[in-house]
Amino acid sequence: MRILIDSGSGCCNGVGRAISTAESYLADHSELFSLGAIVHNDAEIQRLAALGLRTVGYADLPGLRGSTVLIRAHGEPPSTYELAKEAGVSLIDCTCPVVLALQRKIAAKYAELSPVGGTVLIFGKRGHAEVNGLVGQTEGHAVVVESMADLEEKLSSGAISPAHPLALFSQTTKDPEEFAALAAKLRKDNPDVEVFDTICRHVSSRHRALREFAATCTVVVFVCGRESSNGKVLFELCRSVNPRSYKIESADELPAGIFRPDDIVGICGATSTTRWQLEKVAASI
Ligand code: SF4
Repeated sequence: MRILIDSGSGCCNGVGRAISTAESYLADHSELFSLGAIVHNDAEIQRLAALGLRTVGYADLPGLRGSTVLIRAHGEPPSTYELAKEAGVSLIDCTCPVVLALQRKIAAKYAELSPVGGTVLIFGKRGHAEVNGLVGQTEGHAVVVESMADLEEKLSSGAISPAHPLALFSQTTKDPEEFAALAAKLRKDNPDVEVFDTICRHVSSRHRALREFAATCTVVVFVCGRESSNGKVLFELCRSVNPRSYKIESADELPAGIFRPDDIVGICGATSTTRWQLEKVAASI
């Protein structure tokens, strides 16, 4: 049996930067608070918790006066910065530069479209932290589109009107093909719709490379946290080209009897899966 670890897997730059910032801070301080989980990955959160990283929610901020709070790579809406100021906490802002640029783009487009009755559309998962941060750039007025079925429903109910100016953006971790299909659907009714492909290049290039990697292996072990939405997308992509694909959070979840002696086992993961976790799974196999 051969075991390969996908060279493109491991934390993306944005998440890796947030983690290393937290590690550097905790090298000199006993405690740091993260607003929301720093990464959708329980094993990594436990490792960081042992160093002193505590995950907190918005309701905890008023009780943290004088403390330092990390803003994770997903970013936050403007209201969070106001809340933090009122609560008297210091911020370490680890918003990924790619997400920050997207927030600014959306804010500028909203300022342009709202006076003329236009709408900013965001392809993403409703309630996802990054999407909340993006919607926050539009005073809550952006319309989140989760899927083609959701878009069709919103067009037929009038929640999205193709007669008005529209601008479509994407959450950075969405599937590029689904985004292209939504853009094509909108352009059918309104050829002037503005389409901004804001899917992170790290993610879109991962899609192509991962598809190839999964196809060259006889079995795929995909490692990611249960809450990782990017993990769900990338795992489905592996399964679409390799039906012998298994998603696990850690080595102890490996189903029994899935390997054959002549297998080429491919180990890969989401943008929130660390390299050490992939290596641990490989060692266990
Ligand atoms: S996926 Fe891309 S945009 Fe999102 S945090 Fe990672 S590097 Fe940044």
